[in-house]
Amino acid sequence: MDSDINLESLREKALSACQESFARYRKISTMNTEKVLDAFRDARLSDFHFHGTTGYGYNDAGREKLDEVYATVFRAPAALVRPHFVSGTHTLATVLLSLLHKGDELVSVVGTPYDTMQSVIGIKGNAPGNLTSLGVIYKEVPTCEGKYILDEIKRSIGPNTKVALIQRSRGYSSRKSLFIEDIKKIIKTIKEKNPMTICFVDNCYGEFTEILEPYEVGADLVAGSLIKNPGGGLAPTGGYIVGREDLVRLAANQMTAPGLENEMGSYTPGYRLYFQGLFLAPHIVSQAMMGADFAAEMFSCLGFDVDPVAGELRSDLIQLIHLRTEENMCRFCEGLQAYSPVDGYVRPIPGELPGYTDPVIMACGAFCQGASIELSADGPIRSPYTVYLQGGLVFEHSLLALMGAARTLTENETNHNES
Ligand SMILES: *Cc1c(COP(=O)(O)O)cnc(C)c1O
Repeated sequence: MDSDINLESLREKALSACQESFARYRKISTMNTEKVLDAFRDARLSDFHFHGTTGYGYNDAGREKLDEVYATVFRAPAALVRPHFVSGTHTLATVLLSLLHKGDELVSVVGTPYDTMQSVIGIKGNAPGNLTSLGVIYKEVPTCEGKYILDEIKRSIGPNTKVALIQRSRGYSSRKSLFIEDIKKIIKTIKEKNPMTICFVDNCYGEFTEILEPYEVGADLVAGSLIKNPGGGLAPTGGYIVGREDLVRLAANQMTAPGLENEMGSYTPGYRLYFQGLFLAPHIVSQAMMGADFAAEMFSCLGFDVDPVAGELRSDLIQLIHLRTEENMCRFCEGLQAYSPVDGYVRPIPGELPGYTDPVIMACGAFCQGASIELSADGPIRSPYTVYLQGGLVFEHSLLALMGAARTLTENETNHNES
């Protein structure tokens, strides 16, 4: 069987079909790199800002400089960037807990939020201290065929709506990710109805995929994870919040303790990886988008439905590939895992995960545990047997790993047909 030869020619075909979108990503990356570079220059960043501190971390120059640079890059008046945030969820939860009190209303305006946020809100489970248990009223605006509905959003916002949660990326849902232009329209609609409603954007997976960020189109607060896009694959942990000064201060008091604000918190290893990661982030994001595009081309050539389709504009790093069978999902993940720089010898198998009803399979061989800015794929074992592919620090790696996945997939199909 000459499946290898076929795959090689498919690869060339897919690569040439991607050239237009690759050029687009290069352009976006250059503009965002300029944004980051300008922020570093304006902040007069120097090598001594990389040094860590101990104990309380008063006057930690690196921490303060990192806040300053993030605020500039995201065009916001204030920022709170901390390795002390254990994850994106922790960062987002800190914001929500700082803003919402008994009787306040929270509206998720683009369908059900990300899985872990459902526990924070209390849609799922009954974790102590979730928003619902604190007396926060939660509402959700459903999407229609994957699209947000402005009329419904408008109807959902009332005089008591304290916070509107806007999730930029699709996460692991079937709805479409939001473009900055969509976020702008949604915020405008909300503010027309109630100018006091705080528009809070979950920016996870969206940073640097376009040339504007949510604060520039009217968001009050924006937050995300540092082991995704803005960490550039180097930041070892943490999260960031940018936005209105009064609201960032509330979040800082929630994160530390009332009265401590943003003036404490040491980080002994130092901040070099945070600055350097942010410096690389626009390029890394372009590399990941190239990988996603190549995957869309390659696997649709192989006969699978993909979303976004090849060449479609992107506003996050997630690529869905509908693989149709459990066996295909396992083969795909096995092939991808074999091309991981870390744990390449491990064979992924479906397993139970807390909070998921179906077994989940996952290919991930990252330098930084769980960092989904690094190449990874996962999905629940259920129809239509979709893998969610994301990240990829280096396009060359994505190319090799996706070819590996394609090979494992087709080889086994051939064997299967022959047996
Ligand atoms: C990743 C992600 C989060 C936070 O997830 P963590 O794993 O806690 O960092 C929240 N929302 C969206 C849309 C995400 O993609």
